[in-house]
Amino acid sequence: MVKNKKTKRRPRKEPLLTGMRAELWPVFSRYIRMRDCLEVTGTTTHGKCCTCGRSYPIGKLQAGHFIPGRADSILFEPTCVHSQCYRCNMLLQGEWLKYFRYMENKYGLEHVFKLMALSEEKREITPEWAAITMNYYQEEILRMEARHGI
Ligand SMILES: [Zn+2]
Repeated sequence: MVKNKKTKRRPRKEPLLTGMRAELWPVFSRYIRMRDCLEVTGTTTHGKCCTCGRSYPIGKLQAGHFIPGRADSILFEPTCVHSQCYRCNMLLQGEWLKYFRYMENKYGLEHVFKLMALSEEKREITPEWAAITMNYYQEEILRMEARHGI
């Protein structure tokens, strides 16, 4: 098959986050990226894209969902979100095949299917849950910074 280099890939469209989801997202995203950086480099400043494996400073990594759509039930599920580069997350629409293999390898298929089922559940984030969760991830970030440096 001949690859058509002229084909433009559009960045994938995800529903915009508003209100408490939009407030919680940057904190959660930072937690995810720091967690992954620590796992692959032992630092909180550099990590790798989970789907292409390229190295990036934390500021160039994004928190990419394994399952698109940003449903409330998986929006802030830490095992469903990992560090990805802009190219894989946006331009290559999440690189789902590679992401699937990454997930299978990291968590096992049973958990992958659990997340898929969870993504179809109707769950609404409440302000109380958002506040508790925000607090939790802020503390986790401070803990990681204190232990491993910023
Ligand atoms: Zn990548």
